[in-house]
Formats: sequence, C-alpha cells, structure tokens
Amino acid sequence: MNSEWESLRTLLNHPCNIAITTHQRPDGDAMGSSLALYNYLTERGHQAQVITPTDYPEYFNWMPGNDNVWVYTQNKQDCEIYLENADILFCLDFNTLPRISPMDTYVSTLDVPIVLIDHHLKPDTFQWSLSNTKACSTCELVFQFIHLMEDKPTISKDVAHCIYTGLYTDTGGFQNGAVNKAAFTITAALLDAELDIHYVLDQLNGNGSENRVRFLGNSLLNKMTVNNELGLAFIVVDRKDARTYSLQSGDTEGLVNYPLSIKGINISVLIKEEKDIIKLSFRSKGNISVDEICRAHFEGGGHRNAAGGRTILTPPLAIKKITEVVDKHLKINKIV
Ligand code: 5GP
Ligand code: MN
Repeated sequence: MNSEWESLRTLLNHPCNIAITTHQRPDGDAMGSSLALYNYLTERGHQAQVITPTDYPEYFNWMPGNDNVWVYTQNKQDCEIYLENADILFCLDFNTLPRISPMDTYVSTLDVPIVLIDHHLKPDTFQWSLSNTKACSTCELVFQFIHLMEDKPTISKDVAHCIYTGLYTDTGGFQNGAVNKAAFTITAALLDAELDIHYVLDQLNGNGSENRVRFLGNSLLNKMTVNNELGLAFIVVDRKDARTYSLQSGDTEGLVNYPLSIKGINISVLIKEEKDIIKLSFRSKGNISVDEICRAHFEGGGHRNAAGGRTILTPPLAIKKITEVVDKHLKINKIV
C-alpha cells in the first residue's frame, strides 16, 4: 500500500468525527456508497454522519443507517456545526464541489481534510483520492477502500446491502455500459458476507407506486420522440406529468434507458421540467461521449455513457439545440 493510504489508516486508528457527503439529488450509488461507508466506520467505533446536500427518494429509506442521514437543505445549522467539527470529510460519488450545491459554499470555507472516493471523469484534487473512472460504481470503490484500510476485512450484512445497492443501480441492474468484472466478483464476495440479495432486489424493484408504472407507460407511449437519422431519442417530462402522476423524487430514475433498447438508437435524452430549470439526463452507447456534450453545452458532465446537465430552454427548444449539438458531435468525431 502506498504511504498516502498508510497516513489515513493511521488517522483512522483512533476514533474520529467523520462527515460523509455525496452529490445533490442522490441516487442509489450515492446513498449506497455513503451508507456503506457510514456503517463500516461506525462499526469500527467512529462517530459518523451522512449529510446529503438535498433530499433523496423515499424508496432508499429501507437502507441500513438511513435514520441517521441529515439533509442539508432541511437542517442547515446542525449540518454546518457537524461539518465544522469534523476531523475528516468523505466525498462520495462526485468529483467537484459544485456537485454538492447548495452545501458547496459552506464546505469550501472549511479547513478539513477531504477523502474523495469516486468514479467520475476529471476529478478535482483532494488530500486523499480513490478515483477510478473504470469502476462500475462508487460502491465498488468503497469495497476497495475497506480493503485498503483493513488487513483482514469483514463486510457486515449492513455494509453488504448498501454496496450491492450501488453496484446494482449504477449498472442498471448489471446491464449498462458501466458493468464490469468487479460488479460480479464483489457481488459474489457480498453473498459470502450475508448479502440477502432477494430482500435488496425486492426493495429496489418491488417497492414502487402504481402511479410510477402508469407514468412510465405514458412517457414511452406519448412523450418519446425518435430521430432515426441521428440515432437519437428524447423523452420529455413536464410539470403536467408531475401533477397527473404525483411524481416523487426519483420517479424518473431509469426512464432514460428505455429508448436505448431500440435498434439504432445510440443516444437517449430525458428532458425534465423542474421548478426553475430543465434538467437533462443523457445516456449513450459505445464511444459516444455524453460527458463531453454535457460539459461543453449544458453545464454538466458525468461519465462517457451517462451524464447530466441543465438548460433554461423550453423542451421544444432544448430538443432543437440538443439535436444540433449531437449532429455536430457525431460529425466531428466521425461517428456518422
Ligand atoms: P443522471 O442522468 O442519472 O442524473 O446522472 C448521470 C450521471 O451524470 C451521474 O453519474 C451523475 O453524477 C452525473 N451528473 C448528472 N447531472 C450532472 C451535472 O449537472 N453535473 C455533473 N458534473 N455531473 C452530473
Ligand atoms: Mn455513481
């Protein structure tokens, strides 16, 4: 092990006050990695606190440790006091502080050592960094982190359930471009560590609302447009959908993947009207980098095949702009 990790191991040999945070609008990997680390550290006798910048979907509430999560936007004062007194801050599943907005302004004033554990492209520099863009999920890296910190690691059932959640959700159920060998070898190791895989799968897949399934049907039937020439598809979710189907945070999760199951469609974009902005979710196949597209045109980024961004354009104008940008990107990169 290199001395960088040796110094962190030494620090963690004594009980510490540890803060753990993840990106805004946390998803399964964000919550899975944060709570896996939380459970691991508290089992080792540390005082730990997960602080998410914003709220997260209710369907993650089953996760072990969920009762101890604080949401910054709901409890700013306590979060800031905890952060101010933390010995270490772990930053999981994001690569640059603006991703924890609106908490980034406060965190950037702190003089606290930061450990980054993440798999996004082009991370900023922090005191300690376990960053690998080939990892299928941040949960894969948390599993690796525990092995860096322990000579003989034992993975508890709670940690196993959280890690499996991130492996499963970030690979789209072991199906999308992020999936790799580690997703399977770690799952096997988690099964040895008492992962109750059927229980977790039921929490992740068998726990949704009737509204959500009807919303999915309506989105695919009435709200999807396909541009066969460019291999590009869009799904628009507007404020009316949000009202009609009483959409909860996380209800659009996974929707953007469906158009990629159409032969010849290589890029799919979800355009979601929110309170003040329009949120964009991009997915692609092969060597088409939606990270580059989102960085260059939509104030965002992510991974090569899964990235996000934002726009202030209305959905029809957003479709027009994205179509132009994609057309240019494919031509410049000689993909069409
Ligand atoms: P999603 O489309 O599911 O929101 O996000 C896909 C991937 O892109 C995730 O890894 C997420 O962290 C990243 N991502 C989503 N939105 C943004 C954004 O606005 N900025 C950056 N840098 N990454 C994003
Ligand atoms: Mn992730």
